[in-house]
Amino acid sequence: MTTIFDELESQVRSYCRNWPVTFGTASGSRLHDVDGRQYLDFFAGAGALNYGHNPPALKEPLLEYLAGDGIVHSLDMFTVAKAEFLRTFQEFVLGPRGLDYRVQFPGPTGANSVEAALKLARKVTGRESVINFTNAFHGMTLGALSVTGNSMKRGGAGIPLVHATPMPFDNYFRGTVPDFLWLERLLADAGSGLNEPAAVIVETVQGEGGINPARVEWLQALADLCDRHEIVLIVDDVQMGAGRTGPFFSFEIAGITPDIVCLSKSISGYGLPMALTLIRPDLDQWAPGEHNGTFRGNNAAFVTATAALREYWGDDALHRSTLAKGERVHQVLGALAEASPAVELVPRGRGLARGLAFAQPDLATKACAAAFERGLLVESAGPADEVLKIMPPLTVTDDELDEGLAVVADAVRAVTA
Ligand code: PMP
Repeated sequence: MTTIFDELESQVRSYCRNWPVTFGTASGSRLHDVDGRQYLDFFAGAGALNYGHNPPALKEPLLEYLAGDGIVHSLDMFTVAKAEFLRTFQEFVLGPRGLDYRVQFPGPTGANSVEAALKLARKVTGRESVINFTNAFHGMTLGALSVTGNSMKRGGAGIPLVHATPMPFDNYFRGTVPDFLWLERLLADAGSGLNEPAAVIVETVQGEGGINPARVEWLQALADLCDRHEIVLIVDDVQMGAGRTGPFFSFEIAGITPDIVCLSKSISGYGLPMALTLIRPDLDQWAPGEHNGTFRGNNAAFVTATAALREYWGDDALHRSTLAKGERVHQVLGALAEASPAVELVPRGRGLARGLAFAQPDLATKACAAAFERGLLVESAGPADEVLKIMPPLTVTDDELDEGLAVVADAVRAVTA
């Protein structure tokens, strides 16, 4: 296949040649390329499009706002759209969950939110190190990379990890080590060399790490440990938040309350850049200007984010349908695994963050390529790209879900036959 980018080859720096076509339009769970071919999207902007492409309930208010010359760029000025968003976030998200957070707009991306969280935790505790987990992904800026547990993602750039202490994520030892007893001992042992950390940063389900869910009990034990040692617990919900695992926040399933929460990707609901850092009120000790950035106040994103909360989070319909659809994916992947005893396949995930882990890594990327040939966009993830990652928009219809799953099954059979 050739694309209009082949003639621009010397000008573009792009690693995304997985899908060698040029996309033009998209709506709901479908995209179209310039040659008129249609694709089903089980990639969803790596979690940035939980409500699909151009959802009408968000597009209309956005167009109306723009038609009325609503202010678009405002940095941190007070604006009508920002006030509306904050009120709606309180009314539809924080209030009903009994959560008390101050809302910071740390910059346009997930990495900006992670940077703000790390800096603030170090500032308020006066401590330096941060515990991070094997296989974690937190973003591409230097601070976020230093807590990313994947050396390939660090790009050989010699990122200093001196302030990050890597620890095993849940299931690293496949359940054979009593959770956190060892860490408890190291923290109590003055000679261990492990200084009290400022923060722990964790994903409840590792996304880029290959759809790796932490057990609820593990998350609870971690939250308890942080509480007892006054370690700031940062949950990075950039990929798993905004309903990806079912509830609005992925940590709700464990009944824990993080000190800081990072949100981005699907928070604007429309694929517009937007990020939040939610901060326990007494930890909000920023002095003015200590964390700033030019693109913190994208009012177009506030408008779509507000519309998304009103459209999808006024009741629990989306939460319930996400769990039901996730269960359906899990069943299909389970049947697929059972039917291919010669190749070890392990289905895993939570809600509509699903993965199929291949014992033989290259098969996952081959299956993604085979799916693309059949009109389905899926990505691989995991340290060796060994997991086929299934993340459709949460608004995918049952028919579209079955259609995509049939393609996944066909593609997996094609590469494992
Ligand atoms: N945290 C997590 C858990 C992520 O999955 C990502 C992006 N994949 C980020 C942070 C970084 O977000 P961004 O790419 O918007 O900077």
